[in-house]
Amino acid sequence: MVAAPPITDVLLRVRGTVQGVGYRPFVHRTAADLGLRGWVINDAEGVLIRAAGDPARVDELAAALQHDAPPAATVDCVDRLEPRPDSAPAGAGFTIGASRSGGEIATAIPADLALCADCRRELLDPADRRHRYPFINCTQCGPRYSLIEGLPYDRPHTTMRAFPMCQACQREYDDPASRRFHAEPNACPKCGPHLTLCDAGGQVLAERDAALRSARTLLQGGLILAVKGLGGYHLMCDATNEGAVTALRQRKHRDQKPLAVMFRGLVELRAHAVVSPAAAALLTSIQAPIVLVPRRPDAELAAGVAPGNPWVGALLPSTPLHLLLLAAVDFPVVATSANLSEEPICTDKAEARRRLTGIADLFLEHDRPIAHPVDDSVVRLATGDEPILLRRARGYAPAPFPLPGRLPGPLLCVGGQMKNTVGVAAGDRLVLSPHLGDLDNLATQEVFVRTIATLAQLHGADFAAVAHDKHPAYASTRHAQQLGLPCVAVQHHLAHVLACLLEHHHPADGVLGIAWDGTGYGEDGTVWGGEFILLRQNHAERFARLRPFRLAGSEAAVRDARRVALGLAREAGGFPALAARFNYSDRDAAVLSAMLAQQLNSPLCSSAGRLFDGFGALLGLGEINRFEGQVPLAVEAAATPFAADSRLLPFPITRAVTPGARLEVDWRPAVSELLHLRGDAAADAAALHRGLVQAMVEVARQAGAGTVVLTGGCFQNALLHSLATAALTDAGFRVLVHRRLSPNDNSIAAGQALAVLWNLTSVTLPN
Ligand SMILES: [Zn+2]
Ligand SMILES: [Zn+2]
Repeated sequence: MVAAPPITDVLLRVRGTVQGVGYRPFVHRTAADLGLRGWVINDAEGVLIRAAGDPARVDELAAALQHDAPPAATVDCVDRLEPRPDSAPAGAGFTIGASRSGGEIATAIPADLALCADCRRELLDPADRRHRYPFINCTQCGPRYSLIEGLPYDRPHTTMRAFPMCQACQREYDDPASRRFHAEPNACPKCGPHLTLCDAGGQVLAERDAALRSARTLLQGGLILAVKGLGGYHLMCDATNEGAVTALRQRKHRDQKPLAVMFRGLVELRAHAVVSPAAAALLTSIQAPIVLVPRRPDAELAAGVAPGNPWVGALLPSTPLHLLLLAAVDFPVVATSANLSEEPICTDKAEARRRLTGIADLFLEHDRPIAHPVDDSVVRLATGDEPILLRRARGYAPAPFPLPGRLPGPLLCVGGQMKNTVGVAAGDRLVLSPHLGDLDNLATQEVFVRTIATLAQLHGADFAAVAHDKHPAYASTRHAQQLGLPCVAVQHHLAHVLACLLEHHHPADGVLGIAWDGTGYGEDGTVWGGEFILLRQNHAERFARLRPFRLAGSEAAVRDARRVALGLAREAGGFPALAARFNYSDRDAAVLSAMLAQQLNSPLCSSAGRLFDGFGALLGLGEINRFEGQVPLAVEAAATPFAADSRLLPFPITRAVTPGARLEVDWRPAVSELLHLRGDAAADAAALHRGLVQAMVEVARQAGAGTVVLTGGCFQNALLHSLATAALTDAGFRVLVHRRLSPNDNSIAAGQALAVLWNLTSVTLPN
């Protein structure tokens, strides 16, 4: 008698970003090719597979699940389990089963992805049934998070439930061999969303392809269009038309902040900017962010696009709608989020009318509802092409992060105040929302509350606790304290450092965290922002800081960098001369001097962001921050061509004169040198960067930790980032910088999650 061949019958559990990315069709194809029997389903934990057959073939399948996954998928792990008695048997062939909801929520909500090459080809193919259809998508591309209303990620849980599929679309959706098998937003011109061109009153002027063609004519005529895209509305106009750009700025009350520009493709972009291979790779990635690239001197962009700025924020069309629009015009278009600065991007029709009438001349819109606003992500590149994420949103969020341990119960992390994001952590995972904006304004606060509700619902999280910043006046803190849950307050700069450790799976031991930013609430109630936090055995100490200085007029000094410079000069000697250089009247100078002397509305701070402001004004490179970080950006831009110089401004390390830190970085000698020996401002700006970096190296030596973390908004400065990384590495330190998270306050919520997991929430102050 011949023995029956051995059979393996197992369950395979796949976790990661595996829903909505074509993973089940891939499993189906692979398993069928290997001659295995069984099934594959989506459930709340990810993808579950039953596979029965030849043991070697089952092993091959398990390996393929990890290594041959579709491009948009991220597989965290593949676990092999014994079949549970309650799971369906393998059956005769290999099938794709219905989705199951419930259970522990650990699956990831996929991020929205740029148009794929296959869909792009079909879009441009006159023979294809989706030729010029602006909502073409498949399992490799298209909207995801922006239209999800619940999990599992299935059509009835998306805003596409309003569009019943036609027979042809349904056939694709049901066919495991199709690229559109369970492509949740699947649609065609017959059954899906379509375009309209409307005036401000809502009167429809054109529909479908005619709307698109009219939009082209309007852009050519110099008009401003509100265009509803994937995660919200953009304002668009001809980026080479000075009049159109000026009108947009005036109507949007946007003084000088750079506007993003969309180019048809890399070829067109290269005519206006220098595009490195790394920048090109980012621009054409599935995330398709805005990338800051050096502008060519001969670029034919309107001066008003980015006044006085050597970089241009460029992006390529990432949706079929934008691709068709850009293909129709022979110029690049401004593509700025249709919102006031740091408000959430505008998403629905009524809201668009309310907020954009008077700004946009006409509205190019569609009827696919947007469930969640998702702004464009923004990235720049440091030396060595290391990406620095300035805004983590479309394409990146809400991809999850593994936590280095399990939380006892679901945790809500409400983040900070500026550039807010919120996080939901449960089990050993953290999901971080896209960038929401500044909580100073009501529109962001509304989206903040809605996003918390959505993430909680999507992840079935019944929160056991909430983590917030220590700042008592942050809107996020006040919200957290109203929830009736146990609250955990986390120091701001510690959260920055922990966010970076989370990315690198590094413990809170043997680490010096250099957290430099504009502002954060310190343990002593003063404004911090130039911090050196030493982590040893899960304990944090404020090892060093910038020597504290006073901000004359508090908030007024955040805008007016001259006030910071005068505060510095007052202590370094040279106040009257500097006041005269700034053309202050004797009276104004006397008032300011008295404010500083009597400490009237002049809080102490150790903020590196403000220090850059002060030096910017001292160097004559800028006086007023018309948008956040404008003066420091001017300092960086001036310094960049002199990056390779060797001169540095002196920033000696001294014992802290008042309690609160062991050491401090003394900026007085550098201020004094600039007051007395004025040289070339740009070369001085570079010497400033090198001097500060030298101080970082010296503090790191004295701290004696092997690893240095660079974090906080100041490390959006690519020159500071690059010089600090190089100098600390040369000095023998392991340097950790942000890769998947942003160095700015987008990451505070992530740090808060780790703070709770490690019970590390405060920074102790040495006596
Ligand atoms: Zn596609
Ligand atoms: Zn259809």
